[in-house]
Amino acid sequence: MKKAFITKEQVEEIVKTYPTPFHIYDEKGIVENAKAVYKAFSWNKGFKEFFAVKATPNPILMKILQKQGCGFDCSSITELMLSKSIGAEGENIMFSSNDTPANEFAYANKIGAIINLDDFTHIDYVENILGKLPETMSCRFNPGGVFKLSNGIMDNPGDSKYGMTKDQLFEAFKIMKSKGVKNFGIHAFLASNTVTNEYYPQLAGQLFELAVELEKETGADVKFINLSGGVGIPYLPDQEGNDIAVIGAGVKEQYDKILVPAGMGDVSIFTEMGRFMMGPYGALVTKAIHEKHIYKEYIGVDACAVNLMRPAMYGSYHHITVLGKENAELTNTYDVTGSLCENNDKFAIDRKLPKIDKGDYLFIHDTGAHGFAMGYNYNGKLWSAELLLGEDGKVTQIRRPETARDYFATLDSLPEFQELDKIMKEEGI
Ligand SMILES: *Cc1c(COP(=O)(O)O)cnc(C)c1O
Repeated sequence: MKKAFITKEQVEEIVKTYPTPFHIYDEKGIVENAKAVYKAFSWNKGFKEFFAVKATPNPILMKILQKQGCGFDCSSITELMLSKSIGAEGENIMFSSNDTPANEFAYANKIGAIINLDDFTHIDYVENILGKLPETMSCRFNPGGVFKLSNGIMDNPGDSKYGMTKDQLFEAFKIMKSKGVKNFGIHAFLASNTVTNEYYPQLAGQLFELAVELEKETGADVKFINLSGGVGIPYLPDQEGNDIAVIGAGVKEQYDKILVPAGMGDVSIFTEMGRFMMGPYGALVTKAIHEKHIYKEYIGVDACAVNLMRPAMYGSYHHITVLGKENAELTNTYDVTGSLCENNDKFAIDRKLPKIDKGDYLFIHDTGAHGFAMGYNYNGKLWSAELLLGEDGKVTQIRRPETARDYFATLDSLPEFQELDKIMKEEGI
């Protein structure tokens, strides 16, 4: 069963200072999980988790992970800047971007990040921008076809825009070697949100065999293999989660079977997990403000899809706990909605819940990754605050809520802004 990491009483205290809606993160959960990740891969000397910044781009949360030894996986210049701002530089940053603009490659190189090339043509592109290729580089692999595990097809790499074909990868390594690259990495991301301990080990097996072939054929020195992200979390209440210790042991088995006998027992394992590092340790807390009875029963809350897009975008399930009614019977069936003028703005559809009263606080689980981060401003709605429940039990604001002034800021060069400015001042904004 899923349990909220804060109580109704705590929320009643928090809202005196920070009104709903807000995302809140659980430091204790983040730290314990990060330690478990490092323990699971402690057999590999060079192991490093590069947290996928796009999942939760908040410097305070990133610092918590940094303290546990994590680096950062960035996909854009702003994520690179954010990582640099907390002191991560050089080989603590992986730049795994795609369709990358020139200035972003230039900045990644400037701060020493490891550039992970998504495409064969990017070798020339990067060489033209930088003058010469960096000594350490990585390439992203796409095997095509479908990615199958014992419980069926997990994903369709053949349909995805990422990475290089096998032939391109071999050619890329040869060319890059001839152009002075000394330390090579291989990267692949073949399935998303995998809730099975098999994903990483199977991916690792594939990449390890590829690495052995690549070294043999191209003479390139493979220093690291990056298993990227894709390790999932159980969003459903009755779903069993991944066991990172089992996953780590599964990767070790492949390592010992394939890399060690090939004399490649010094290759570092990298990961770029986002969801697994942060997902369960964040929640969206929102208040029930309306109750509507038409052909169905609706509970209107003060958050909407701009605060959490996954249900509207993917139909994703996010478990909901009505705080203070954790043990109440699930007597009612509701659609829990936000206020967007979009009928898909629903956090839950036909969900069995306890009877909800106006003023109740709903704890929407598992928003710690790809939650706040996927926010937007449709309908002129503003981004919420982010709060941190510290290991000491104290709650701090780690991002203030957006205001109308933030929302209108990019209009400030227009003469029309004067009138907006006047209105905001009248409203004390
Ligand atoms: C999104 C992404 C990740 C993180 O994925 P999760 O599913 O959150 O673990 C890692 N690497 C790359 C290149 C990504 O695009």
